Amino acid sequence: MAEQSEAKNLLEEYETKKKPIDEDYQRKLSELQANCPHTKLTDWMDEWWALGHSTGYSVQHCKNCDKEIHRRTSCYICGRSIQDEEIKKFSTEMLKKAREEGKTLVLAVNGAYCANCISGHSPAPVSEVI
Ligand SMILES: [Zn+2]
Ligand SMILES: [Zn+2]
Repeated sequence: MAEQSEAKNLLEEYETKKKPIDEDYQRKLSELQANCPHTKLTDWMDEWWALGHSTGYSVQHCKNCDKEIHRRTSCYICGRSIQDEEIKKFSTEMLKKAREEGKTLVLAVNGAYCANCISGHSPAPVSEVI
């Protein structure tokens, strides 16, 4: 038991010492990213939310400050490559509007769509997905 509480104390001491360093790092990183011209970018890299689990997106980061500058994916419906502001997401407002208009919405909550497909000009209706 004594060993356990010693380990707990060490962990708490570590967390206490680590906090201001983390905060200082985050502040400096934010400043760097805000003032960086982002002139040199990495190649497109697949983005992963965990090992072996792709998010379905590719990203480009700034080589100097590591800020994400571009992201791209494929439209869930038509498959067209879409990037940055071309990527449209599902919103509950869209679902409400579609219901009011008596339409069936064909979008997945986590889906990414081109402007054409998200505005209902889908060539392949599926079913309402919540
Ligand atoms: Zn940068
Ligand atoms: Zn599309």
